[in-house]
Amino acid sequence: MILAVGSRYKRVCQHNLPYAALFQEAKSMKAFEATQYFFDTAADRLKLSESTREVLLMPKREVQVQVTIERDNGDLATFVGFRVQHDNSRGPMKGGLRYHPEVNLDEVRSLASLMTWKTAVVDLPYGGAKGGIGVDPATLSVRELQALTRAFVDQIHDIIGPDTDIPAPDMGTDHRVMGWFRNQWEKYHGFNPSVITGKPVEEYGAKGREEATGRGVGTLTVKLVKRLGRKAEESKVAIQGFGNVGTHTAKYLADAQFPVVGISDATGTYYDPEGLDVHDLLRHSLTQPRGALTGYKNCEVLPVDALLSLEDIDVLIPAALGGVITSANVDSISAKVIVEAANGPILPLADKRLNERGVTVLPDILANAGGVTVSYFEWVQNRQHYRWSLDRVRQELDRTMNDAFEGVWQLAQEEQVSLRTAAFMIAINRVRRAAELAGSVI
Ligand code: NAD
Repeated sequence: MILAVGSRYKRVCQHNLPYAALFQEAKSMKAFEATQYFFDTAADRLKLSESTREVLLMPKREVQVQVTIERDNGDLATFVGFRVQHDNSRGPMKGGLRYHPEVNLDEVRSLASLMTWKTAVVDLPYGGAKGGIGVDPATLSVRELQALTRAFVDQIHDIIGPDTDIPAPDMGTDHRVMGWFRNQWEKYHGFNPSVITGKPVEEYGAKGREEATGRGVGTLTVKLVKRLGRKAEESKVAIQGFGNVGTHTAKYLADAQFPVVGISDATGTYYDPEGLDVHDLLRHSLTQPRGALTGYKNCEVLPVDALLSLEDIDVLIPAALGGVITSANVDSISAKVIVEAANGPILPLADKRLNERGVTVLPDILANAGGVTVSYFEWVQNRQHYRWSLDRVRQELDRTMNDAFEGVWQLAQEEQVSLRTAAFMIAINRVRRAAELAGSVI
């Protein structure tokens, strides 16, 4: 089902609003508005016209579909699925599939737009998209999860393809889901593993894809801390989330001699001021349903939301949900460095406050771009029918992330803006230039 897009995209965060009024709005700010605010801050520096902003912000296409499956007990269950294709000026659109009860059109739209800026900031030849289903995958059996994925593909396969829109894993989906997705898509269109990335390694997946986002977060955290003149051993880290991104980030930083003192997941905050044994936590999580930390006893256990306000933290890494750092809790954060491993964890009002307090924020569109970068490597390998070694994947990932970081850092110094604004400026300029060359904007 294609939904027409129109005047409801009239932009809401105009910069001629007094800050107080803007931040009054921020309390109820939706995800898409938050992304738009960050976009506008950079677009103001670039003196972008109103009409160019409209072209760059409005998604190309939004699709909402009904996804119905037969449950194991014979009942029918119906869910809502989305795919938002934001921009394809720089290449086929790319973005994850999220299975989570809170997935909604506004969130998917915001994440699709973030993907456009993310692929541009690390200079991949892609645009941005995102999709998902409003479902708690933990409530489904493996058979139901597979049926759900296949039913979703039945609804959207026409708009997905290796040269148009290439999905990947995100929260609640993994290599198995990607494998089912590919298999169902190929029933309509024939063999072509490059239609989706994040596949099982033995089924045309890339070595190193699973660790890629966490490795990228880790690499840039090491670089940023060094650039700020701090030592790894003296920089205490707290990580929110212990899923794909959180575990690989924790492992990378612990191996790089950072004391990781706090880790939270949906079951609690696990804390040791002397530094947690990350490998021990990982071993424990492998024994628990869905990798949770429940029952871990070798440290203090605090409530889930205690992590963000832990005292004496140097580096905070939100690696779970969006919108977790708000005006309400921003002043309880002690960290001087925040690395956004999750998508959209800081709302605009909180971001402004952090800037005022001199906290350095490494923005999501750069910090967590390692996943889409290795997805790109997987797509390249699939198209060439050639496999890279893990060493090559890591080397190329580290080079891509380092180059992007240097570009953003340098522009931030030159323009005296935050790393987020610099990252958006670079990304917007690249997308605008591609659209100009294609004749889509003047
Ligand atoms: P995941 O589903 O593997 O893990 C999510 C983790 O967050 C789990 O440990 C869960 O227990 C925890 N969590 C849930 N609610 C929490 C709460 N209230 N407090 C603390 N922890 C909580 O997801 P993931 O793939 O690791 O993704 C995490 C974030 O990173 C998301 O924002 C996602 O969009 C972003 N991201 C992921 C990738 C990727 O390659 N997986 C790439 C880029 C960005």
